[in-house]
Amino acid sequence: MILIATDLDRTLLPDGPYPDDKSIDNLFVALSNKQYMLAYVTGRNLSLVQDAQKKYGIPTPDYLIAEVGTKIFHKEENTLVPDILWTNYIRTHEPQWNRNDITDAIGTAHDITMQEDWKQNEFKISYYLPKNSDKNIALRHIHKSLEHIGIKADVLYSFDPLKNNVGLIDILPKTATKATALEFIRERAHLAKDEVVYCGDSGNDILPLTNGYRAILVKNAPENVQKDVSKRLEKLGIPKEKLYIAHGDYWQNGNYASGIIEGLRHFGIIS
Ligand SMILES: [Mg+2]
Repeated sequence: MILIATDLDRTLLPDGPYPDDKSIDNLFVALSNKQYMLAYVTGRNLSLVQDAQKKYGIPTPDYLIAEVGTKIFHKEENTLVPDILWTNYIRTHEPQWNRNDITDAIGTAHDITMQEDWKQNEFKISYYLPKNSDKNIALRHIHKSLEHIGIKADVLYSFDPLKNNVGLIDILPKTATKATALEFIRERAHLAKDEVVYCGDSGNDILPLTNGYRAILVKNAPENVQKDVSKRLEKLGIPKEKLYIAHGDYWQNGNYASGIIEGLRHFGIIS
């Protein structure tokens, strides 16, 4: 069995500034005679995932990892049901985690501003950073503030090219990232790491792209993400053959779903 786990925005979905060769349908046609499980792994919440399903005609996945790993849903009779076990697991493993303490410690220094309430949850603390602000200074401030109150967290930075390149910062408990949520699913499905293929494009995909799965970076992934992923693989001693970076060819441009097709072909999962 193969678990195909993919990020949505600008990986499966062509919602970025790069050319789209309309490959979503081709991808699911190519997979239609295969045995596989599908997981969406996204920053979106459930209702935004459902919006994307309507807009792009993508299927209901077997699993949904939403809100950057802080929520998991699984499919029951074509509906996505919240996985309470995952929420309990995070709570048990993060007894120190307290949203208010963290946001108080970070404050609003260095141009960082809170994202909208609906983009926050108990475990996901999200900020915007204007594109002209110094990302390194802002991130250093966040790390220092967390250290000061004794919180260990993953601080993820990505940017949204549709929103005027505004920077997105997610602060997540170490227990609840895209990568740990995927591990939770993988272990329950009794799959080996090699039976998971992860497809992504941006900063918050770096952890699952370097977790020992087979990994696909779509061509439209920013160059710094490509570099960071390669560097991290090397640092972790993961063979570089585990990563495929789509480059496009005569038939397909390698962006978004087209890059996923290219990668799945490379790994011999589709022909
Ligand atoms: Mg993305």
